[in-house]
Amino acid sequence: MDFTALAQRICNGKGQITKAESLAVLNSRTEWWGIYGAALMVKNHFYQNKLQLNVLMNAKSGLCAEDCGYCAQSKISSADIETYGLLPTDIIYKKALLAYKRNATTFCIATSGSRLSE
Ligand code: SF4
Repeated sequence: MDFTALAQRICNGKGQITKAESLAVLNSRTEWWGIYGAALMVKNHFYQNKLQLNVLMNAKSGLCAEDCGYCAQSKISSADIETYGLLPTDIIYKKALLAYKRNATTFCIATSGSRLSE
């Protein structure tokens, strides 16, 4: 697949990436540098050197009942991490407000565990 041509088409506003093209990118096992170069073209075209500030808050840390092997918060991990239950809403709100005041465009709330309770 010609990733450079794909990037040029997207940058020129001549169509979005199709599902088939997306799958070709995802399934490519040997063309990482071509994909990287094309992604850089798209990034430079749409964002130049602008930065976007995203804030990620861990609203519940550790204490997870799951056993995902890669995760420091899992029940099988011995990583020395800070653990705490779900933080109160007012603290989450204050963190979101602080992120907003510092010009963050995205505020994400992450919690350990496979899902939130009701
Ligand atoms: S469910 Fe989430 S927090 Fe829990 S061990 Fe898996 S990745 Fe980590």
